[in-house]
Amino acid sequence: MKPFIYDPPNETMPREELEQFQLERLQSTIYRCYRNVQFYGSVMRDLQLTPDDFTTLEDLRRLPFTTKEHLRNSYPYGMFAVPLREVRRIHSSSGSTGVAIVVGYTANDLDHWTGLVARNLAAAGVTDEDVVQIFFGFGLFSGGFGLHQGAERIGASVLPASTADIHKQISVMQDFRTTILVGTPSYARQIAETIAESDISVQSLSLKGGLFGAEPWSERTRQIIEENLVITALDIYGLAELGGPGVAGECPFKCGLHIAEDHFIAEVIDPETGEVLEAGREGELVLTAIHKEAFPLLRYRTGDITTLHIEPCECGRTHARMSRVYRRTDDMIAIRGVKVFPADIQAEIEDMEGVGSRMQIVLDREGHEDTIEVQIELTRPPAGGGLSSLDRQRQATQDRLGDFLRMPVRVRFVEPSTLAPLGEKTTMVVDNRNG
Ligand SMILES: [Zn+2]
Repeated sequence: MKPFIYDPPNETMPREELEQFQLERLQSTIYRCYRNVQFYGSVMRDLQLTPDDFTTLEDLRRLPFTTKEHLRNSYPYGMFAVPLREVRRIHSSSGSTGVAIVVGYTANDLDHWTGLVARNLAAAGVTDEDVVQIFFGFGLFSGGFGLHQGAERIGASVLPASTADIHKQISVMQDFRTTILVGTPSYARQIAETIAESDISVQSLSLKGGLFGAEPWSERTRQIIEENLVITALDIYGLAELGGPGVAGECPFKCGLHIAEDHFIAEVIDPETGEVLEAGREGELVLTAIHKEAFPLLRYRTGDITTLHIEPCECGRTHARMSRVYRRTDDMIAIRGVKVFPADIQAEIEDMEGVGSRMQIVLDREGHEDTIEVQIELTRPPAGGGLSSLDRQRQATQDRLGDFLRMPVRVRFVEPSTLAPLGEKTTMVVDNRNG
């Protein structure tokens, strides 16, 4: 297999050289944070640290973590390291679970971001011959713009289909001879299943690959997308706080996502103690952005649970790989005293036929007892149609989730796009128990 590497000097840099490179970028980032971001200036002064105290990569551990709470407290511009006149773009998280997080980009930041996303696209084999259909949302959410810019940088023809409905997506795919699909895996799966059930022959389409991300997805969903659309589906990773997509992406060997280590320093910590874990051990991913002007973050706790692998990959890239993110530390919920990860419930749902994978868990309390309702966006009417078959399917889903969780569960089917706009991820848990 021909390895597609967009930026060989940086993506295949020997590790020793890479670490020296990281140290230089880290030092200048720390200096700018100390000087220009009040939050970091006071954190460092409280610890009696100055930028000169950071002479090795390990010295980074002398700094405390930055959390989502810190970012919320600085809403909207408190963490910016440059004046607004130098900011060219602003994106924001949806804020569905609290105060939104606002991220700024200078002209250089936009340029670097574009290059990073281009790496992910090139790893999936995207070239200037391709037609890339993007069904991420374009808006304050950074997914659509990030992939759009990256695909343009490569020279591909970009179709910003955004959140058009599924029939429109499919007709665009047919008429414009789309070769690469980009968007959320739940929507990709819905497209794949709709095509499989229609009289459209996959051979009549021009598809060859896809990049999917912005929400967790299982190997089962990957398999459904790949088999029904006859494409290679790769995972991409990013988060709004660190500028959006482009932080990491799979190569065709599908053995984890290469982190852009010339732009980010990755650590994995024990979420309870904060202790840094060695490569190969599972914990919470902590990222330091070492090449950002407007919004540099030091030791940001992503909440995503993963494992780092630093041994070289067959593709030739030297950047560490992170295992696919499925669970988040802040996701874990206790229902009736039992610890549950919503991602595990989602995986169970993804495994079922004919049920969409976008869901939301609503917790409430009746008397002294917790209740759990799982709302699932039904992507298509059940086979056979009619109300009774819908109810049978709902009952079957409810029984299966009840068995899985070993407690009574209520399942409610909702219309597509009820839980979140198409192209954006849903809020997995709504907890009304203390309200
Ligand atoms: Zn690789």
